[in-house]
Amino acid sequence: MTGPAEPWRTWAGDESCVPAVWERPGSVTEVVDAVGRAAARDQTVRVAGSGHSFTPVVLTDGTLLSLERMSRVLDVDTATGLVRAQAGVSLNALSETLWDHGLALENLGDVDVQSIAGATATGTHGTGARLRNLSAALVSVELVAGDGTVHELSATDADGGDAWRAARVSVGALGVITAVTVRTVPAFVLRGLDAVEGREQVLQELDARAAAHDHFELFAFPYAGRVITRTNDRVHSEPRPRGRVGAYVRDELLTNKGFEAICRLGRARPSLIPRLNRAATALGSAPAHVDRSYRVFATPRSVRFNELEYAIPREHAATAVRAVLAMIEERRLPISFPLELRTVAPDDALLSPAGGRETAYVAAHVYQGMEWQPYLREVEAIMRSFDGRPHWGKRHFRTAADLKPAYPEWEAFQAVRDRLDPGRRFTNPHIAQILGP
Ligand SMILES: Cc1cc2nc3c(=O)[nH]c(=O)nc-3n(C[C@H](O)[C@H](O)[C@H](O)COP(=O)(O)OP(=O)(O)OC[C@H]3O[C@@H](n4cnc5c(N)ncnc54)[C@H](O)[C@@H]3O)c2cc1C
Repeated sequence: MTGPAEPWRTWAGDESCVPAVWERPGSVTEVVDAVGRAAARDQTVRVAGSGHSFTPVVLTDGTLLSLERMSRVLDVDTATGLVRAQAGVSLNALSETLWDHGLALENLGDVDVQSIAGATATGTHGTGARLRNLSAALVSVELVAGDGTVHELSATDADGGDAWRAARVSVGALGVITAVTVRTVPAFVLRGLDAVEGREQVLQELDARAAAHDHFELFAFPYAGRVITRTNDRVHSEPRPRGRVGAYVRDELLTNKGFEAICRLGRARPSLIPRLNRAATALGSAPAHVDRSYRVFATPRSVRFNELEYAIPREHAATAVRAVLAMIEERRLPISFPLELRTVAPDDALLSPAGGRETAYVAAHVYQGMEWQPYLREVEAIMRSFDGRPHWGKRHFRTAADLKPAYPEWEAFQAVRDRLDPGRRFTNPHIAQILGP
């Protein structure tokens, strides 16, 4: 199905493009045909997920493919936990189907509206010291390459699994992923608890907290001596879904509308931000939320922002958070969003930011309509001093030349890229900047 040219835009709203052709294939054959048509027109191709990356990674003036018509769960094997799904399925829709079969994704980030292919392509992760990013659950990947051939990539391939390890975190630079097989776990219930605690004490206890809980993260507002901690643990009890009113008050009024009002006020009167941040921190505790895993992991998000997130060796986590907060506070920067700190276990995808090392992710956000580049450049400089690697879906200023030394298996990824897309059908200026021509 080919649509008329219309604008495509990111969730944050500040990156957009008008593709020459926008295709919505409904099958692998239709994807192959669409790639063939783009080649005949000598156009590059990008695939859009749900637009939740902050960077211009999806943008194209050539052919844009949307897999919204390829969003079905194809097969559920409850005995092995292996589940086959089309690449356009959202994490939420997948989780709902899995729950009905007594299964779940092992971990999720803080939203679940992304497509499975889009989320894994950028190394999307949740938090959990023993848990890897989402792409680590991909047992096999079906991909349409630059010449229109269809490949099923897995660990047991003749290339030693290199193409599979490349395709799990591909940044959309290898081809169109059309389906994936995911390893799932038995369905579980989480008890989520948000609390307000002293900043320095939590930073000192970081390793112990991360080790003691299934999922631990913190939010540190600049200018506030306290942080909000979020602790999610598996419990053996039935879900206790919050009533509609309770969920509305917590998620919509306090988390979204309340926080939006605070951010707006801070944008209009930056001198108020230190006081507003202390008030926002105080609002951070919440009663325990016991529910299906994916309903505790993910929360609705309506406050728009720009974000950078860096993966750094875990041992530097507390020092890095302190360094960014000190930089903000010394320079009196008008930052109304908290730093977010999460932990992720190492994995073996060739371009995974958490690849090969125990990782802490540090994220910095800037409210929409506020200048984000100078601050995020400063944060990036601090993260680079800790040997950081940027999240592929979030703002950063790196180039292929300086990313290459950060990835021991960079050349192996490029060799797979040369094999699957030698003519560079799947590129755009951003891909050329971060992965090279
Ligand atoms: C509010 C919000 C919350 C977020 N929370 C988290 C979080 O908790 N943890 C985290 O790690 N990240 C988080 N992110 C980042 C987000 O998970 C990633 O940017 C993710 O890649 C977005 O998925 P998407 O489906 O929107 O893909 P898009 O952003 O649309 O695309 C991402 C990349 O995937 C490629 N792609 C998409 N589909 C295909 C396909 N079928 N074949 C080949 N390539 C494809 C695209 O070309 C692009 O390169 C968040 C982002 C937002 C806006």
